Amino acid sequence: LQERLQRARKMEALGTLAGGVAHDLNNILSGVVGYPDLLLQDMPADSSLRKPLMTIQQSGQKAAAIVQDLLTLARRGVADFKVLDLNSVVKDYLDSPEHEKLVQFHSKVKVDLDLAADLKAVKGSAVHLSKTVMNLVSNAAEAMPDGGTIRIRTYNQSVDTSMGTYETSREGDYAVLKVEDEGVGISGEDMERIFEPFYTKKVMGKSGTGLGMAVVWGTIKDHDGFIDAKSREGMGTNFSVYLPATSEKAKKATEVWSLEDHRGQ
Ligand code: ADP
Ligand code: MG
Repeated sequence: LQERLQRARKMEALGTLAGGVAHDLNNILSGVVGYPDLLLQDMPADSSLRKPLMTIQQSGQKAAAIVQDLLTLARRGVADFKVLDLNSVVKDYLDSPEHEKLVQFHSKVKVDLDLAADLKAVKGSAVHLSKTVMNLVSNAAEAMPDGGTIRIRTYNQSVDTSMGTYETSREGDYAVLKVEDEGVGISGEDMERIFEPFYTKKVMGKSGTGLGMAVVWGTIKDHDGFIDAKSREGMGTNFSVYLPATSEKAKKATEVWSLEDHRGQ
């Protein structure tokens, strides 16, 4: 337990540090991403400078995405929480352009969906939970270079014993999101470190940033949840995200929209 706490504190400190740097970089990058637009407007359509300029802009956009992850890590706890249906969060992600891009790139990867019809609602941030789904699903896809199936499941579970890979759980009712893959697996040694910011076994800056699981960890902590991970090398990995259930009813997306439309008028 002592070791776990120490690890948690280390991740917290790394997150805060990274967030400080990210704030400065965010301002700097807005110029790198923004000014090329102005230049491109005035540039003849056949100019040979268009291509390098667009490369600069795209690199800036990639860097900005990393910085966004860092800011998410640092700005934890300020998200606007609503009563949500985790199933809708999963479905919305699967319909998103991000997921579309992922399946196009990993064409041999299939997604198998099994969502509990009676899933209890949770209090949370749809944006952050959607990112959690995205990070888990993209890692699962990247762990299966030769293809395979990603199983996404949701279900209700009461917890009465201590569980969870990083944090000790609290007793209670949870809505669980489980993402299972048939990929390369994670060694025990790596499992100790994958939630640390910047820990990646992929090509740093190219195929990985090492921020995905750190962001997942931060989000789950903000939601008073915990994560359970199991993996066998060469067999696959599964991550189960436990979020405390609430007895309040989740609003249907349409109701949320109409309420907000009304307020905006
Ligand atoms: P990144 O994906 O940019 O490397 P992450 O924080 O998302 O960063 O993941 C950190 C590391 O954890 C990955 O590089 C990978 O080695 C390992 N990992 C995460 N999820 C899985 C998975 N489903 N299967 C195998 N390895 C995984
Ligand atoms: Mg990742």
